[in-house]
Amino acid sequence: MTETARAGVLPDHDIYLLDDRFTDEERAIRDKVRAFVETDLLPVINGYWERAEFPYELVPKLAELNVVGTVIQGYGCPGMSRMAGALVSAELARGDGSFNTFFGVHSGLAMGSINIMGSEEQKQRWLPAMARLERVGAFALTEPLHGSDSVALETSAHREGDTWVLNGAKRWIGNASHAHHVIIYARDVADGQVKAFVLERSPEEDFPEGFQPRVIQGKIGKRAILQSDIVIEDLEIPEPNRLQNCNSFKDVNKVLTATRGGVAYESLGHAIAAYEDAVRYAGERVQFGKPIGSYQLVQNNLANMLAEVTAIKQLCFRLVDLHEQDELTSPMASMAKMAAAKKARWVVSTARDILGGNGLLLENNVARHLTDMEVVYTYEGTDSMQSLIVGRAITGASAFV
Ligand SMILES: Cc1cc2nc3c(=O)[nH]c(=O)nc-3n(C[C@H](O)[C@H](O)[C@H](O)COP(=O)(O)OP(=O)(O)OC[C@H]3O[C@@H](n4cnc5c(N)ncnc54)[C@H](O)[C@@H]3O)c2cc1C
Repeated sequence: MTETARAGVLPDHDIYLLDDRFTDEERAIRDKVRAFVETDLLPVINGYWERAEFPYELVPKLAELNVVGTVIQGYGCPGMSRMAGALVSAELARGDGSFNTFFGVHSGLAMGSINIMGSEEQKQRWLPAMARLERVGAFALTEPLHGSDSVALETSAHREGDTWVLNGAKRWIGNASHAHHVIIYARDVADGQVKAFVLERSPEEDFPEGFQPRVIQGKIGKRAILQSDIVIEDLEIPEPNRLQNCNSFKDVNKVLTATRGGVAYESLGHAIAAYEDAVRYAGERVQFGKPIGSYQLVQNNLANMLAEVTAIKQLCFRLVDLHEQDELTSPMASMAKMAAAKKARWVVSTARDILGGNGLLLENNVARHLTDMEVVYTYEGTDSMQSLIVGRAITGASAFV
């Protein structure tokens, strides 16, 4: 940060100089993702968003950044620090939520499932090509009848010799229509426990008959990433494609606890983008003969937005430290997701108001952050469900099971 900034003229959102803690390596990773966002992503994303199409053209460019797999050590993954991993999510979301969700589903949820629950042989088999983005991953947990209570999922897995036969349905599965490795969670009919199965196909192959994804239409947030409804009918998965260390929903929870932080960092990115757009606009837009940023009510909003952005950032950075020290618990992750998403949702909505009618135009970006934040508020566990997880930790009484 410059001396002028330290003297009180803020060029960006980092009023508490929290970014000063980054190492040179973390700063370099942040800067290369930021450059990709500004040069490659922002110029094209609004068109994709409006057409509800995924920007496949950007995937090779993302691969070149060497950030896929973030904190995973080995298997061709970058093995970066937790802080650098958080910065990748925040910077991508600062550009666009859909593209960040593509990244989060692939790198965090799908690769994370393999890394946390796969055997050594499975990690070596799948992770390197996923790190190079030659193979795209999806994470199929949610079902039409089980969202918040995904622990009660009904998709069944029946073992016949060395083959598992899966039947059921999944909903809202990001990347599923074009993925090559879909992690499918299903309940073993023999012991009643949830297990994870990897549906694998090469880029040249179609999905098997028993796996039929249908892209969900008419979505008003994160329009540039495709989610699918999936019908699973007598789908055969070989035993070597069952993640060997997933023995119950407790193991799935390890993945969800790890990725919930990613949703907090995502909220930070959306909030920063919206705050900075609002500051810029408040300086330019003249009403009643003066820039709107000179009026008390607008300044009050900007000051409160900055306070919330700063609070989200502090939550995120503490989460990074707890994770790095291996102290991160499920309630800690839930509280961060809950608080970060709620605050960011308010920031983007207030930014939208500051831009007036222009805030409703896609070309000004804030509208995209606003509707994307609606998704963030809901997915990976709704605001209410996160609060119930924290509430259970506070009181010792579960309000939901
Ligand atoms: C764009 C998008 C992308 C997604 N991507 C994926 C993906 O890639 N993979 C995947 O597996 N899933 C994905 N999801 C699913 C997502 O995680 C679920 O939507 C989310 O967990 C909520 O489930 P639900 O939509 O079924 O809502 P419901 O569970 O039906 O909840 C409806 C409302 O009821 C409230 N509620 C539920 N139970 C309680 C309770 N006990 N007490 C109080 N309130 C309660 C909820 O908080 C919510 O407000 C995605 C969702 C969206 C929208």
